[in-house]
Amino acid sequence: YPTERIRNFSIIAHVDHGKSTLADRLLELTGTIKRGLGQPQYLDKLQVERERGITVKAQTATMFYDHKFQGANGIDVQEPCRFLLNLIDTPGHVDFSYEVSRSLAACQGALLVVDAAQGVQAQTVANFYLAFESNLTIIPVINKIDQPTADPDRVKAQLKSMFDLDPNDALLTSAKTGQGLEHVLPAVIERMPPPPGNCNSPLRMLLLDSYYDEYKGVICHVAVVDGTLRKGDKISSAATGQSYEVLDVGIMHPELKPTGVLLTGQVGYVVSGMRSTKEARVGDTLHQSRSIVEPLPGFKPVKHMVFSGVYPVDGSDFEALNHAIERLTCNDASVSVTKESSTALGLGFRCGFLGLLHMDVFHQRLEQEYGAHVISTVPTVPYIFEYSDGRYVGAVITLCSERRGEQLEYTFIDSQRAFMKYRLPLREIVVDFYNELKSITSGYASFDYEDSEYQASDLVKLDLLLNGQPIDAMAAIVHNLKAQRLGRDLVEKLKKFIDRQMFEITIQAAIGSKVVARETVSAMRKNVLAKCYGGDVTRKRKLLEKQKEGKKRMKRVGSVDIPQEAFHEMLKVS
Ligand code: GDP
Ligand code: MG
Repeated sequence: YPTERIRNFSIIAHVDHGKSTLADRLLELTGTIKRGLGQPQYLDKLQVERERGITVKAQTATMFYDHKFQGANGIDVQEPCRFLLNLIDTPGHVDFSYEVSRSLAACQGALLVVDAAQGVQAQTVANFYLAFESNLTIIPVINKIDQPTADPDRVKAQLKSMFDLDPNDALLTSAKTGQGLEHVLPAVIERMPPPPGNCNSPLRMLLLDSYYDEYKGVICHVAVVDGTLRKGDKISSAATGQSYEVLDVGIMHPELKPTGVLLTGQVGYVVSGMRSTKEARVGDTLHQSRSIVEPLPGFKPVKHMVFSGVYPVDGSDFEALNHAIERLTCNDASVSVTKESSTALGLGFRCGFLGLLHMDVFHQRLEQEYGAHVISTVPTVPYIFEYSDGRYVGAVITLCSERRGEQLEYTFIDSQRAFMKYRLPLREIVVDFYNELKSITSGYASFDYEDSEYQASDLVKLDLLLNGQPIDAMAAIVHNLKAQRLGRDLVEKLKKFIDRQMFEITIQAAIGSKVVARETVSAMRKNVLAKCYGGDVTRKRKLLEKQKEGKKRMKRVGSVDIPQEAFHEMLKVS
């Protein structure tokens, strides 16, 4: 494929505006996947993605499309030419913007999908700027025009006022009914430039992503920026100097399809006998072993917004958890991991995440993909930015000031929609701010954030104690003014999770040596077999096994068992 006939593009959007559905339709339209494959969203491969209906990992697929197009040389092409299009699906949620900017590095253009009824939302803005800063050609796609409440003209006006995009450039589509989809790929080919690389220069390729496959070993996704990559080539990493032989190379069509070669501008996969995904550094430049090249710019290091401890439920599973985390972080380089230990929970890890959803998804993937049972501790943090719908402005301002926010900007996108920017302590938004914001605005407000700076604040350490013993994993740094109320809430909440024992249990919240709240769980003997009347033996055994299973998920502090849910539930108090 000559470079002029390659286009690399992404689809970016606010969550639920229809990126993945549109991506599926394009794959169908080009015959890359069969119609009605039964999988609602082809590119959402992870179980967690299907369950939550969100995209977490950027996925790539190569499509072929015949199009009659007047070439750059100005000569009218009579016969349609076959174009090679690489589509990179990106996650929409703010927590995953690292994945977004990573996939944009391999693109020259982006389809900016906006819901025709909802209009421009927070992540539309955030994603637009990511694409804009990467100098991509942006084609606005107003989707879901089949909805009765669709108002494409209003969206066009927003695109003009927010991003200075020409309303005449907008494509109108319904990924549901198929309306307007025939204009999408022609627009991609005609408006977006081909990749800029030089096919005569020595090979340079950008390592976009990697994952571990049971049979093939480490599989790297790469974008060939300059030159050509062939099976059998000896390649080296610019970061480590390590050399590898290319054992297999090909495209994602959308399953791995060996081609033996990748040309300038192509996006594909490489198997090169790397033993661990640690060797595959995302953002690294790979080149021919014998040539010396200037490394590509790579990626900005990520900023972690939320930190939380991750511990095995059963201490003897530490090694297994270590292994699972290693594998998973290969596939998600945006998580930072350091070992730590806690007196209550033993050996574990301190992990840094981009946000709460990112943290949740990480835990879910650990359980689903690696069978690890973990306990996570209260997240600690830094900052934000935010947006809201005009009609609910008052409530939002109240919420932000309750959360100790400082207003930085307040403008109107149009008569219906306001844009607000606040500096807020991350501690105040990380737990339930988003839910609260959604509920006070009947779901209209959307929200995005980025790191600000550390600020001096009046903070105290709030400890939770069981029979006088601190549970270090439940200790939290909180604002002095809120410490007492929080202490009371936490103590009440924890009480619900502690089963009565043969002795009395006191639950206390304390700041230093000052106790700010206290509850007691009175003593009682709990007999799980009491209801069995000694009759049915199998039922008895089942009950005992169930109890044992439950115990596995407990953590013992002093002589009291705390169920895993308690650790999760405590996160929700703020
Ligand atoms: P994403 O989060 O941007 O990837 O959005 P999805 O592709 O997962 O779509 C979110 C929801 O919108 C799904 O329930 C889709 O079926 C629905 N949807 C997508 N495109 C259209 C459309 O053109 N019209 C209508 N009515 N619904 C759509
Ligand atoms: Mg999606």
